[in-house]
Amino acid sequence: MDFDLTPEQRAIRDTARRLAEDRFADRAFTWDGFAWENARTLAEAGFTGIAVPEEDGGQGGTLLDAVLVMEAVSEVCPHSGDAVQATNFGAIRQVSTFGSERVKRELLPELLAGRALVGAGMSETEAGSGLTDLRTNARYDGGDVVLNGNKVWSSHGPDLTHSVVWCRFGPRTRDIGCVVVPVDAPGFTRGPGERYMSGERHAALYMDDCRVPRDHVLLDNDALRRMFTIFGVERVGNAVRALSLAQAAFDRAVEHARTREQFGRPLCEFQGLQWKFADMRMSLDAARLLIYRAVSNADQGAPNAAEAAIAKCYANEAAFEVANQALQICGASGYSASSPMEYYVRRIRGWMIAGGSTEMMRNRIAEEVFERRFSQRRPEPSRS
Ligand SMILES: Cc1cc2nc3c(=O)[nH]c(=O)nc-3n(C[C@H](O)[C@H](O)[C@H](O)COP(=O)(O)OP(=O)(O)OC[C@H]3O[C@@H](n4cnc5c(N)ncnc54)[C@H](O)[C@@H]3O)c2cc1C
Repeated sequence: MDFDLTPEQRAIRDTARRLAEDRFADRAFTWDGFAWENARTLAEAGFTGIAVPEEDGGQGGTLLDAVLVMEAVSEVCPHSGDAVQATNFGAIRQVSTFGSERVKRELLPELLAGRALVGAGMSETEAGSGLTDLRTNARYDGGDVVLNGNKVWSSHGPDLTHSVVWCRFGPRTRDIGCVVVPVDAPGFTRGPGERYMSGERHAALYMDDCRVPRDHVLLDNDALRRMFTIFGVERVGNAVRALSLAQAAFDRAVEHARTREQFGRPLCEFQGLQWKFADMRMSLDAARLLIYRAVSNADQGAPNAAEAAIAKCYANEAAFEVANQALQICGASGYSASSPMEYYVRRIRGWMIAGGSTEMMRNRIAEEVFERRFSQRRPEPSRS
């Protein structure tokens, strides 16, 4: 076991950091919507599709490479981190792993170039954590598939060019599948852009006899089980973004505590604050190690589901606590809307809910502990 990055890994991280500082730092925290321009800059630098196989147009690197790029970029500009997520960890991996030849040929190059954006259309008003209650349905009709239903909470909703719409091809859980839907498909409409607490935009998606060619179907059965490992990639992306913003908040708090004086001394000389920094540093290290473990074991493939759940749950909660304490240490200047500290706190908070809540991650981890599945559903009434 080697905890040091290789020279190649350090070079990737340092190159990504330089790119972020040179190209993204000036406009950091000013984006309202998806950072298209920065997605294209990342593509030109070879930082999209990092762990996507070369035959699919990716870089053929490892998930750890992608994590290192995410850290380097997100710490400087969180919205550029969203572009790293979208082009490496998000629904793009659903497309690259299960897309038909046509979908891969037509859509992947656009996604990898930062010219298209695909989201995950999973949640519905009555199907959040209990995703298997989703009602959006799909049926084949000649050479097409026809979709009916609604989705909510689609991140970057107004900017999406495509959505991977999760739907059912029949009544059973194993009939759940997913279909790539371009936003200009007939019968597809979007609700108005709404905002999360972080300011990021989301939108509802409506499918009313929405028709797409049948080779846009990624999976038409057993999608939750077959896609399970891919969710681990998305979860790692979520975890490392939380970690990166917490690291950025921590670094700002360290600088503040070094320079801000009260009672005639720098804040860092108060032991009450030193212990906070020690706790924060331990949490950041632990989160980073759990993320690195999950992705190192995955290499180019998908992480083990339990390791991804542990990394996400821990990183989400540790990051929120670190950012919250970092804000506290900066006092009113941390709480000011003109400081990024309050944005870090608001933004990290959402990742405790998105991509599988921390409670759902704990459910998954408990299954690993007891080596059995625990259905969250009410037991069927006995018929005796
Ligand atoms: C920032 C953000 C971005 C998102 N982006 C997208 C997106 O792009 N696409 C998309 O489809 N969705 C997206 N979502 C929605 C997200 O997937 C859901 O919010 C999430 O699955 C939880 O569903 P819910 O909000 O309906 O909460 P519910 O499922 O109603 O849960 C409410 C609370 O109960 C807890 N809970 C529920 N069931 C259990 C259980 N069995 N055991 C213990 N606790 C339980 C939950 O953890 C939560 O705390 C996003 C959400 C956020 C906050």
